[in-house]
Amino acid sequence: MKGDAIIVGAGIGGLMAGRALRADGWRVTIYERTDGLPRTGTALGMWPEAMAALDRLGVGDAVRARGVLQQGATFLRPDGVPFARVTSTDPAYLVSRPTLHEILYSGALEDSVGWDAVVDDPTSLPDADLVVGADGINSRIRDVVAGRRTAPRPLGTVAFRGVVPGTVDDVTETWGEGRLFGITPQDQQTINWFACVRDDLLAERGSTLTPAELLTDLFGHWHQAVAEVVTRVDPEQIDQRPLYDAAPFGSMVRGHTVVIGDAAHAMAPNAGRGACEALLDAVHLADALRASETVDDGLRAFDRARRRAGRRTVRISRFLNRLSTARRFTTSRHRTMNALARLA
Ligand SMILES: Cc1cc2nc3c(=O)[nH]c(=O)nc-3n(C[C@H](O)[C@H](O)[C@H](O)COP(=O)(O)OP(=O)(O)OC[C@H]3O[C@@H](n4cnc5c(N)ncnc54)[C@H](O)[C@@H]3O)c2cc1C
Repeated sequence: MKGDAIIVGAGIGGLMAGRALRADGWRVTIYERTDGLPRTGTALGMWPEAMAALDRLGVGDAVRARGVLQQGATFLRPDGVPFARVTSTDPAYLVSRPTLHEILYSGALEDSVGWDAVVDDPTSLPDADLVVGADGINSRIRDVVAGRRTAPRPLGTVAFRGVVPGTVDDVTETWGEGRLFGITPQDQQTINWFACVRDDLLAERGSTLTPAELLTDLFGHWHQAVAEVVTRVDPEQIDQRPLYDAAPFGSMVRGHTVVIGDAAHAMAPNAGRGACEALLDAVHLADALRASETVDDGLRAFDRARRRAGRRTVRISRFLNRLSTARRFTTSRHRTMNALARLA
């Protein structure tokens, strides 16, 4: 099955779907509201399934070449004592968001993406055999698929993230009361950091502190590796955002319209899976359409293959968001995480 495909959103899911569908002979047009590829961004973990999906489209080696191998992650208390370690048998890679976008775009989609093209009204889109909503957590296309307004759910936590110059070898997450601080390599010269803090803890700090002052107040007295990163954070480059995930809404498909990635199953960042799931959706979508006689059959097969998996990852990510930022029972929380890490 092939024809004309419209994709809304040139994020990770949209670019990957564009690449996969073009490789199968679809004529692809992508509408993207921004004016070009992202110029800044932090690191994304590409798990083995995501690496396999990237390999299927011939770009896995580019990610390996420009990313950093991730062997696992160590979980620490604020005093620096480890309480759990997750190791992956198959290699995962950390790659910066701008690099991943560029790899997915280059050599395949230069004549397919319309930049500065906001889709405010999905009914105004030209006729096409297939419409793919890859327009992220506040998706307009999801409203079309669900048949109603679908707002994301607040998680009650706020993310802070950024990069500082330097190198680290390992991925660490330090969990304290109501908050966590993560440090990962991003490339050969850059350290990626992120923090996740409960709303109620931030409210207790009042509204007068700047993001940099908040980070110092919340994490500046933690173990040396965290404190060092906090002192080097550039106040102008802190990305601070409240976190949301997607409420379930039924099928990912209506007629010839389908949603993928965050548009379908935006999740808390705590499992580091959102971008990976977007990549998997894109590859499964192309596979399902290739194997079917009609778009309707292909989209139904895609929904069967991906709806449950996406929703399950939303639930796991929500659980980890709560667990990692719990304010009470932190000792038993560390034991729970240790047990989960041994199962992983
Ligand atoms: C703090 C944080 C840390 C994270 N860390 C990780 C990680 O380590 N690993 C991981 O796998 N995931 C991670 N994620 C999740 C990951 O960023 C997302 O899951 C991923 O970006 C989803 O890709 P997407 O293509 O579905 O959506 P997006 O990347 O959001 O792309 C959507 C695109 O659609 C465009 N768009 C939106 N609306 C319109 C419109 N109306 N018209 C035209 N264009 C439109 C947007 O401009 C954007 O380019 C993290 C997320 C956060 C918030």
